[in-house]
Amino acid sequence: MKDIDYDALNSEGFLRQKQEGFFLLRARGEAGNYTREQFLAFAEISKRYGRGIIHLTTRQGLEIPFIRFEDIENVKRDILKAGIQPGTSGPRMRTTTACPGSSWCKRGLIDTVSLYKRIEGELGIRCGTELPHKFKIALSGCPNKCTRADASEIGIHAGLEASGPAREIRYTVYLGGCGGKAPHMGFKLDKTFAEDEVLVLVKNVVAYYKEKAKPRQRLALLIKETGRGIFLKEVGL
Ligand code: SF4
Repeated sequence: MKDIDYDALNSEGFLRQKQEGFFLLRARGEAGNYTREQFLAFAEISKRYGRGIIHLTTRQGLEIPFIRFEDIENVKRDILKAGIQPGTSGPRMRTTTACPGSSWCKRGLIDTVSLYKRIEGELGIRCGTELPHKFKIALSGCPNKCTRADASEIGIHAGLEASGPAREIRYTVYLGGCGGKAPHMGFKLDKTFAEDEVLVLVKNVVAYYKEKAKPRQRLALLIKETGRGIFLKEVGL
């Protein structure tokens, strides 16, 4: 297995397995959603090229293990045909996780799928964007934070706030959370935001991270090194 560009394969969602010569395909849905057709195609790909196993990841992804290197091009063709998007690994933006929000959760205050699409479409911040290290965004439709807003680099949840006699929907943001060997809880910003303001903040934080972080430095460590006050000023807060 010489001369294989494993990082390029990582970027396309094919991760090297423990077992020599095998790769797993990591795929992602849109805001964690998959269609029936995508599931059926996934099952077929798993049967044809894997061992009939589909693994559900903690970030709402689907993985098919035991794909042989020589089948990767065929798998790429089949997932493209089924409209399945590949996930990624390595120093890149991970797929943004989202709870169902107002799509069907009775507590959902915002359309999390729409926010997901705005981050990808309007900001161009997509899974696979090259960055100094892994970077995760999580969206939740209410203060229950089912996608664990405080455990991602950027975590966002909606909430209701008093606005005169009425109540309005505002967005709470956590920054600098991460898991791994050295986990950090994200810290909660002491003001809330409108959705458009949240998008500006996401754009600024990702741009700052991309420019300033050292290779393999998570956002939490960049904030620690920079100083929280300076960091917040730099991202427009
Ligand atoms: S965070 Fe709120 S809206 Fe989202 S799934 Fe949990 S309870 Fe529902």
